[in-house]
Amino acid sequence: MILVDVHAHLDYPEIEKDVDDIIDRAKKTGVKAIIANSVAHKSMRKTLELAGKYDIVKAAIGIYPPDALEKESGKKNDPDIDEELKFIEENKNKIIAIGECGLDYYNGKKENQIEIFKKQLELAKKLDKPIIVHSRKAEEDVIDILEESGYKKVVMHCFCGKKKLIKKAADLGFYFSIPTNVVRAQNIQDTVKEVNINQLLTETDAPFLSPFKNKMNEPAFIIEAVKKIAEIKGFTEEEVANNIWLNYQRLFC
Ligand SMILES: [Zn+2]
Repeated sequence: MILVDVHAHLDYPEIEKDVDDIIDRAKKTGVKAIIANSVAHKSMRKTLELAGKYDIVKAAIGIYPPDALEKESGKKNDPDIDEELKFIEENKNKIIAIGECGLDYYNGKKENQIEIFKKQLELAKKLDKPIIVHSRKAEEDVIDILEESGYKKVVMHCFCGKKKLIKKAADLGFYFSIPTNVVRAQNIQDTVKEVNINQLLTETDAPFLSPFKNKMNEPAFIIEAVKKIAEIKGFTEEEVANNIWLNYQRLFC
């Protein structure tokens, strides 16, 4: 089976320390491409390094909502946005997408992040690269901003918005990357039901969103998302995998 993980964090310490083995295991299960997403200054640089080292790893570089990252990591985080945007542009030939960026009102103040997201969206348009979008408790604003921009090369990562918003984003032509925790997350299963197979992608968000309780996530587990999508949509696993591979190529390649 041909598999793809469009969203993993390979630079996170718990993954990076075993990254050789983790990539080996992914290859053995049929994973042909992993998009390593980054979240900030150091993460962007490490992600580029990893993409340079492993043939199946593609880099997405971007700036995660800074307040949210500070809360999640417990480390001070105050990026120089214009410097980072310059860095992204300078490395445009080494990246497959811009991400992960977006809005997070659960962990951050609204006014501190909208401009940063909009700037990355403008850059994605300028460079003609897909944008990988995080939205938490900010789904409506995210979709409004994306709609206003008119940009279509959009991946909604782990989207848990209301049915109406899922439909709106799907009608706008956006893609939805379905994380491996779809095996138990009802709201993600609802997204799978709502969205046409031609707009679905698969992701692990490793080391997060594991399909297995008490086990760190990794790209080799992407098959669990494929299985669940097949079950929900009434397709074979092979059909789902092939469709998602085609979607990946249409959007990213
Ligand atoms: Zn992520």
